[in-house]
Amino acid sequence: MIKLGSQLQKKGGTALKLFIVHLFLNVLFIIVIILLYHLFWVRQGKNHPKWNAFVFILLCIAATFMCLTFAAEPFDGFRFDLRHIVLIISTLAGGPIAGGIVWAVTNIYRGILGGDGVLPSLLLSSLLYILLLLTYQTFLKVNLVKKIALAILVSVIFTLGWILFFAAHAGHPDSYIKYITVYELCNVFGTMVTLYLIEVLNSQVKLQEELINAEKFQLIGEMAASISHEIRNPLTSTRGFLQLLQSDICSEDERKVYLDIALNGIDQANHVLTDYLTFAKPSIDKVQVLDIEKELFSTISLITPLANFSNVIIQYDKSDDLFFIHGERQKLHQCLLNILKNCIEAMPKGGVLAISVSQKHEVIELLIEDTGIGMNVEQLNRLGSPFYSTKEKGTGLGMMVVFSVMKAMNGTIRITSKLNDGTKFALCFPDAANTKKA
Ligand code: ADP
Ligand code: MG
Repeated sequence: MIKLGSQLQKKGGTALKLFIVHLFLNVLFIIVIILLYHLFWVRQGKNHPKWNAFVFILLCIAATFMCLTFAAEPFDGFRFDLRHIVLIISTLAGGPIAGGIVWAVTNIYRGILGGDGVLPSLLLSSLLYILLLLTYQTFLKVNLVKKIALAILVSVIFTLGWILFFAAHAGHPDSYIKYITVYELCNVFGTMVTLYLIEVLNSQVKLQEELINAEKFQLIGEMAASISHEIRNPLTSTRGFLQLLQSDICSEDERKVYLDIALNGIDQANHVLTDYLTFAKPSIDKVQVLDIEKELFSTISLITPLANFSNVIIQYDKSDDLFFIHGERQKLHQCLLNILKNCIEAMPKGGVLAISVSQKHEVIELLIEDTGIGMNVEQLNRLGSPFYSTKEKGTGLGMMVVFSVMKAMNGTIRITSKLNDGTKFALCFPDAANTKKA
């Protein structure tokens, strides 16, 4: 004959409350485990299927342990918990092997805990597992509502087994009927909540993937349009001037001018293509130790004609110290060139472009500051997004390349700006000399 737990029996109503608290705690454990699994899956699981299955089973086992350990015991030797929800989830979501492992662990641990409930628990969980194996294929094919209905049906059949067991072995029905009813309700509620949660998380991941794909396709489309525009334009003008050169009507001076324009067109197309390629593959292939001031100097000499043309004074005092960073020369040049070009373009009526390099602890800081038109907060936030440009002939590629190169070189970039006042770029790189010593 089954007896009510002596301690709980004395407290009457409190015992039932405690019983409910235990079962809700069980639901909470299962939810936490599902969230943990989701977190792992989003970060790692997609790329490592074997690890994913291992972590899934491990977390299901952890949930089983928690449920069993914190089970309610209104009757001596019987543990009421929601471990079988874990068995349902592990079999339906993880497959027969995962379910089989969880079934085995459940019964081993239940056996260790002991009591009159061990044997009925073994019988009922085996029945549940067989039921799950029979419904597993159907479960995979149906929609969410049918999935939940099927899982609830399986869960109800399982608890019905307990009701029959108690009816056959316990004394007066009044002593267990309220516990069994609450248990049944918590089962239905727990199964519903957990399956719904799994489905919502899964659909969220799917949605995110679709969104990323849609963004990629949009970017490819914009890039194709932009490439044909940005490259075809200079090539068309170059072709025009080359045709003029071919004819005999132009003088020697005109020939020189046409040749310059044609070469400029080719350079421009080349620059746009380099920006695209760097953006597509910003990773550093050959890591070199670079003397940042030497590289800065060669970039400044490239940009000086443009600065002179716009009446911009470049202020740059070479430091007595040497500053080394890790990176790839060509990509660093491109990154600096894009920033310097933007600064000069922001000062159409002339101004000052101040450049300095300094070291703070293990960080090399390169400051580039202009006295140009500046940006407001909204413009500053949009900086670096593909094709964002406020210029009539802008491509909106420059800053996008700057950000991706800085990331590939393990650097950071801080930009501050004030409208009609100027913009300041602070580029920070890890000190290569220090890394070498370490
Ligand atoms: P583009 O130069 O082709 O317009 P970028 O990606 O290089 O594309 O720059 C994007 C936009 O960021 C520019 O159009 C400009 O509005 C803004 N910007 C970048 N640098 C500066 C700067 N130093 N001062 C003011 N605005 C800037
Ligand atoms: Mg630019």
